[in-house]
Amino acid sequence: MFENNVTRRGFVTGAAAVAGLAGLSTIAPGLASADPKIADQHTEAELRASEAGALAMMTFQKIDGTPVYYWRSNRGNTTLRNWQCTDAFYNALVAWIRDLRSLSSSYGSISYIVSAGFYVDKPGQHGAGTAMDLDHVRWSGGNTISPLDKHHASTNAAIRKRYLATEAVCRRRFRYVLDGWYNADHADHIHSDFGGLPVRVLKDSESDTKFVQAVCNNFRGSGLVIDGIWGTNTQNAFNGLKSALGVTGDPHTSSSVWQAMLSKIATKGFANQNI
Ligand SMILES: [Zn+2]
Repeated sequence: MFENNVTRRGFVTGAAAVAGLAGLSTIAPGLASADPKIADQHTEAELRASEAGALAMMTFQKIDGTPVYYWRSNRGNTTLRNWQCTDAFYNALVAWIRDLRSLSSSYGSISYIVSAGFYVDKPGQHGAGTAMDLDHVRWSGGNTISPLDKHHASTNAAIRKRYLATEAVCRRRFRYVLDGWYNADHADHIHSDFGGLPVRVLKDSESDTKFVQAVCNNFRGSGLVIDGIWGTNTQNAFNGLKSALGVTGDPHTSSSVWQAMLSKIATKGFANQNI
């Protein structure tokens, strides 16, 4: 795997490029206080502007060897392009895609992912080079998940489970994750950024609560209103989810407990199994 990283490093520019992957497990908590920005649809012009202006960013075309395409102006194209983010965020992306490969290994390898943007010249986490908008994932066995096609709202329960499995993997590495249930601006991508780390599930987070409610509904038929409010019904459903997954410990305060719970949700989701 290190050879892939060396190849990837060939695309790196800027001072941040000298940092290695040794710190992979320690995701930089910097910039964690910024709120996620909801109006984060990115145009090709914005992306071009970002390439011209971002000197402190590293540049990449693949994450840990997996190509990252851009379909917003030309769906289906497989042209490599230059993306930018901070070195620390790239390292988190490597950890994320390794998690994704591991948890979805029954689908084969990951052929490519599609993004709507990482660093973008605008305020917030994208402007800091510490955010990703995920549009699509394609596996070698032929499976796909496409937030771009609003798969959170698919009529196919297996597709909704796969969407939540993919989101669960994002949540293993990123605290602020905004999905199709969160609001209309995120109906067509999953946003992940460096805000709010370390990872855990917070009852006063609208996005966290909506994710939990969607998981309980789609894996356990809980019938919750997905309103982002952590009330009695959500608490009871969450207790049932934890119990069914054999989770002990407190996912609200322990990153390792929450990450392990997310891995179990992802495993069930990629296998199209109820919990
Ligand atoms: Zn975004």
